[in-house]
Amino acid sequence: MKKILALAAALLMVAGVCTAQEVNKIRTIQLGENFYCIDDPGSRQFFFVGTDKVILVDTGFGKYKLTPVIRKISDLPIEVVLTHGHVDHIGGLQEFGECYACEKDFQMLPENVKKKPLKDGDKIDIGNFVFDIIEIPGHTEGSIVLLEKNKKFMIAGDSVQEGPIYMFGDISKFDTYIESMQKLMEYSASAEKIYSAHNTLSYGPEYIQYCIEDAMLFREGKITPEKTEIHGRKCNVYRGQHVSFFAD
Ligand SMILES: [Zn+2]
Repeated sequence: MKKILALAAALLMVAGVCTAQEVNKIRTIQLGENFYCIDDPGSRQFFFVGTDKVILVDTGFGKYKLTPVIRKISDLPIEVVLTHGHVDHIGGLQEFGECYACEKDFQMLPENVKKKPLKDGDKIDIGNFVFDIIEIPGHTEGSIVLLEKNKKFMIAGDSVQEGPIYMFGDISKFDTYIESMQKLMEYSASAEKIYSAHNTLSYGPEYIQYCIEDAMLFREGKITPEKTEIHGRKCNVYRGQHVSFFAD
């Protein structure tokens, strides 16, 4: 019997589905009134309970169902907003069938999911929270930040954190990223905390400046790359003073 259970668990792992044990390890942390984090060690999700809907920011790898996690807190309809289109943020989309995201990342999303565009300057008002959408291309073309000015925080996906931040491909992405971070600096007084999908849960607004400084060091060739491999892909890691980047 034990062997059969072990085999079933192994098959589930191969299929990319979490075992019950792994699902039990997923913690939901309350970060504020009506504000929660699903502390998935692979990639965090955040959700916000409004007056008539729940906004779920990102959907992880899709290794477990998110709706039952949210249903422990709220029965309101759930709408998904994506910070960007990377696999560790969009894996659970099939569960919801539709999402809001920046149009520039639509091509990264599954075809059968209904896509509703968000752009710079849009607002998402769910009663208890009002989010300003700020486009910050660089990490991906369609990366966005959700800024809650009244409650003084941002949800920044992968773009503001210690990293390594994935910056594969065209080197000019660093120029775009730096421009985006400079734009985000203009909002830094509106946020005391910047929540990240990876590594430390939240950073102070000074981290935006750290991202700029270290991306500039990279651009100026002042960081010595270290060869590494990530998900079977040979690449370099560039370790700045505070922020690291994966790049080709
Ligand atoms: Zn990403």
